[in-house]
Amino acid sequence: MIRADHILQVRWTAGSGWQTPQIAPYQQIELDPAAAVLHYGFECFEGMKAYKDAWGNARLFRPEINLDRLNRSAARIALPTFDASELLKLIVRFVKLEERFIYGKPGYSLYLRPVIIATNSNLGVTAPTAALLYCIACPVGPYFSAGFKAINLEATSSAVATRAWPGGAGNHKIGGNYAPCIAPEKAAKARGFQQLLWLSGADDRITEAGTMNLFIVLRSEQEEQFELITPPLDGMILPGVTRDCVLSLARERLRPSGWIISERQICMSEIIQAAGAGKLVEVFGTGTAAVVSPIRSIQYGDTLVQCGLARHQRAGAITALFKEWIEARQYAVEEHPWSVPV
Ligand code: PMP
Repeated sequence: MIRADHILQVRWTAGSGWQTPQIAPYQQIELDPAAAVLHYGFECFEGMKAYKDAWGNARLFRPEINLDRLNRSAARIALPTFDASELLKLIVRFVKLEERFIYGKPGYSLYLRPVIIATNSNLGVTAPTAALLYCIACPVGPYFSAGFKAINLEATSSAVATRAWPGGAGNHKIGGNYAPCIAPEKAAKARGFQQLLWLSGADDRITEAGTMNLFIVLRSEQEEQFELITPPLDGMILPGVTRDCVLSLARERLRPSGWIISERQICMSEIIQAAGAGKLVEVFGTGTAAVVSPIRSIQYGDTLVQCGLARHQRAGAITALFKEWIEARQYAVEEHPWSVPV
């Protein structure tokens, strides 16, 4: 990983609140071995990107959503929250300093990782009394450098492994949600699958795939009507920025031609039935890293569900269209308020 040159840091204590922010050369963080983050997982983070437009200007993409989500994650694990508009100003300053790491080529961007951790060093399991907010960055290239690569999912039985559950914290971007997913994911990889499809409940409801939100395109009973489905934000789904982009673009550009855009529960049984009836058109994941990720198949117990792609097809037409539409706004090919000049 190539790191950008700087680190943005702001310290907090329960007694004095947030201290003066500092942007310093990239450096190690010193922590007491008893620091609460190392014991009880008081950590939340964000993943967002800065892009360069055709005129060489740096741009952030919908940063206010990431910073609001960071605050909601922090509040969920008793970490301090930060004024999101002030944090945005700091991130803008940080991005300006790191501009040389945003390569002005299609598909390139600067990945930004804001984090909040608890730094107080007492072993009691209590609300943090000291914290550090920091942001680091690294340049990233196109996710699919050789064109799309459709992936094969293995659906987890929720009795074996589940990512999120009712009343839990799966809708927040906290470190504790990620580590427990790795061992089951590693086992699925050893069986030849690229990602897990996380199911929930006795009826095997779809939630997310790996660290992506999931979208399913079905052809409805009336042959030429289509439905774009993603699970609703019921507390078990991370409210993805890319998920929101897909939903708003779909409402703006597909609904007028008769598409149904649904945030609703969908179970494996409905997907299997649709696939059997030739009505499963496309499945794709969404996230900041890849924008969209086409899905070729889902292994569900003994059943292999083909997700609508022909053997040599790398991505469905709708999946490719969303990538094009979203990237046009990220790189300001289409000037739009989602893209914020730095
Ligand atoms: N789900 C999970 C669990 C994630 O970690 C991510 C990545 N942040 C996403 C979905 C996609 O969210 P976004 O579009 O905001 O990157």
